[in-house]
Amino acid sequence: MLMKKILILLDVGHGLYTYGKRMYGPLDPNETREWVLNDRIADALELRAAEYDGLEIIRLDDPSGKRDVPLSERTAKANKLMLEYEAKGYTVIVISLHHNAGLYGRRGGGITSYIDSRRSSETSKMIRDAVYDELIATTAMVGNRNDPKTDQPLYILYNTKMPGTLVEHGFMDSPTDVPKILSPEHPVQCAEAYINFLVKTYGVQKKAVAPPPKPVDDLSEYAYTTQNLNVRAGRSTSHRILTALPRGTKVRKLYLANGWWSIDVPLSVSPKGYGFVSAAYLANRAPDQPKYREGKVNATRGLNVRKGPGVNYGIVTTFKHGTVVTIYEEKSGWYRIGAGRWVSGKYII
Ligand SMILES: [Zn+2]
Repeated sequence: MLMKKILILLDVGHGLYTYGKRMYGPLDPNETREWVLNDRIADALELRAAEYDGLEIIRLDDPSGKRDVPLSERTAKANKLMLEYEAKGYTVIVISLHHNAGLYGRRGGGITSYIDSRRSSETSKMIRDAVYDELIATTAMVGNRNDPKTDQPLYILYNTKMPGTLVEHGFMDSPTDVPKILSPEHPVQCAEAYINFLVKTYGVQKKAVAPPPKPVDDLSEYAYTTQNLNVRAGRSTSHRILTALPRGTKVRKLYLANGWWSIDVPLSVSPKGYGFVSAAYLANRAPDQPKYREGKVNATRGLNVRKGPGVNYGIVTTFKHGTVVTIYEEKSGWYRIGAGRWVSGKYII
């Protein structure tokens, strides 16, 4: 049997810094940007798609979010890729990911899916309806729209030649949708819906070779770092370091895949609001405080000794690289090495 091959052109709506498009401040103090929310779904879907044969995903936006790729450029890219992939035997469809707004804190909301009101095919209509039904099955975000499967003049669908749909995955200013949209389950459930749609409608099948088994997932929400630990931009040590966490830091776990947890990080660390740590260095309980132990200064330019555990405390003296210290106490990543003498744990090995 000839293997089915399908290409999803994934259009992640807007850019990270696009003016306006963001969560409603009174409901989400972080005012998370729409692109970030759309990007989470795209990431979750790309992760799941890798388990399937002949299923390709290509993004039409800039996956770093830095550039708001103009719609004309997105549609030109889509039409070019369609020709290229159809020639290779692929079925090509477009899916545009968005989150809605317009309620300003009033009740209501829910998922809505669209086709273009001026030019759309029966296939697009089928995709719109099937995707909506699968999304409601996994997220239960029915909302209160009169016509959740609808049409509108939409540039991206009008100007691309392949069938497809545009989906608003809940309202960024609905009191019922916002907590749901911000939950770690939301992108995973949305990705699950798209996979279910692709399996049922296009018959995509799991790869014959099973992916490596997932490490055991314990269900506790929080964990502690068992050593000083780097938070990275992706699930491997070849990804960029976003920040470093001292041993014993409490973290909120989001999603486990390939031996790496995604964890919550402040938006100042990553605009996505999450980073990745190896599951090997997380434990359910805080590591014991050492009674006292020895350490060595690892700072080629020297290390300031301060009156308290933080850079806001005055400097007592400076230790040279390689100086041996005795650690008596640990507090938020700082070590007490004497009475009123503290050093940052980041520079002690
Ligand atoms: Zn949007």
